[in-house]
Amino acid sequence: MMHDCLFCHILAGEIPSEKVYEDDDVYAFNDIHPKAPTHVLVIPKQHIATLDDAEDAMQLGLLMQKVSYIANDVLKLEAGYRLITNVREGGGQVVFHLHVHILGGKKLPF
Ligand code: AMP
Ligand code: ZN
Repeated sequence: MMHDCLFCHILAGEIPSEKVYEDDDVYAFNDIHPKAPTHVLVIPKQHIATLDDAEDAMQLGLLMQKVSYIANDVLKLEAGYRLITNVREGGGQVVFHLHVHILGGKKLPF
């Protein structure tokens, strides 16, 4: 089912993005407003609106394992990195398709 969702449109190739990594389960691309030298978003290919809507523990675990793979083996963030997932309005979530921000490439402020 096609959702009218910004990241689903990116997945469908209807909105351009700078791909960093892709496999059967996830898609990773550069954030359009980077807040660190490396700022990548990792999304499941299945539309899940927020973390609170994720029902499949295996799928969530796989997502996090792939985030680690992308940070290390694709982005080469050997010094380490930070993950952020904003959850719903109060958490600052703007795009309602579950995503993990990977931030790295400099000493992060806090
Ligand atoms: P969030 O507050 O976690 O929902 O963050 C959404 C993120 O998506 C923000 O960091 C935006 O800069 C980013 N973003 C919005 N539109 C695009 C786009 N077309 N391509 C890449 N990143 C985007
Ligand atoms: Zn979506």
